Amino acid sequence: MNFILLLNIDIRFHLVKHKLEFCAIQRRTRNHLLNYNVDFVTFKYLLFYLDELQAILHKLQFKKQDKIYVLGAFTEGGNMRTQCTLWLFVSVVLLIGAAIALGSQKMKILIITGGHDFERDQFFAMFDSMPDIEFTSVEHPGANDIYATSSLQTYDALVYYDMNQEISEEQKRAFLTMVEKGKGLVFLHHSLASYQTWDEYKQIQGGRYNENPEDAAKKSTYKHDVTMNVYILDRDHPVTQGLSDFEIYDEVYGNFEVSADVHPLLKTDHPQSGEIIGWAHAHGASKIVYLQPGHDHHAYENENYRALVRRAIRWVAE
Ligand SMILES: [Zn+2]
Repeated sequence: MNFILLLNIDIRFHLVKHKLEFCAIQRRTRNHLLNYNVDFVTFKYLLFYLDELQAILHKLQFKKQDKIYVLGAFTEGGNMRTQCTLWLFVSVVLLIGAAIALGSQKMKILIITGGHDFERDQFFAMFDSMPDIEFTSVEHPGANDIYATSSLQTYDALVYYDMNQEISEEQKRAFLTMVEKGKGLVFLHHSLASYQTWDEYKQIQGGRYNENPEDAAKKSTYKHDVTMNVYILDRDHPVTQGLSDFEIYDEVYGNFEVSADVHPLLKTDHPQSGEIIGWAHAHGASKIVYLQPGHDHHAYENENYRALVRRAIRWVAE
């Protein structure tokens, strides 16, 4: 199968505001296979979209024997020289992207659940939709046995969607060894309430939802079925780069702890929520991301949420 990648860059605002459109057409049938639009603020973000390009090529099941034809049209503004330079740069980026896509393997992740109900089918469908991710899931009780097994090495990252309290001292040690070695960890939503009495877990996650603290004033709260605004705090971080602020129908948490040393990525202005609702963090040699949203299918099916989860996995797994 041959592909034509059509590229259209609007440089009306002299490289300040661009729109990038990928369009894939099956050559023989002229079927439109895919349209893909992204906004980016400065030209350097083009490199970042290598990541998105890989996802597209995965989705198209692009194979080595396939050919990519790149056609381009730059609309409005810019002299001939600027347009040619842009075109050359974009072509090189696309070729590098295709080469990376061909060479790249799917990331293998382990999803840990248990201790809190959730909509299983819709939750796992979110990971099924990620073309560059292959997942296995494990549930409590018993999920913590994984840290002492050699199969842990086969995963590029672990994703936590559990809310668990039982962990033995031996399992804690194995967990900490894993973090010292640098396994990437993504924590979602109610996993912020796991291991309430294990202090180091709070340091690893970079925060905690306090269920029943001795000091009642420290008790965290939740509120289901709200619409909240999510604002991107760091537009240069690999997890959030190029994403726009968005709205999500979800559950908010209030009065939860966020460590002072996390790197905030997302915030909200919802009155019943804590302000920082997503962060990047490091512990030992591990890269860590926590995302507060993610209660049910409203979040799992939100494209912005899916993008955040996928990017978080990619980033911690690097
Ligand atoms: Zn929830």
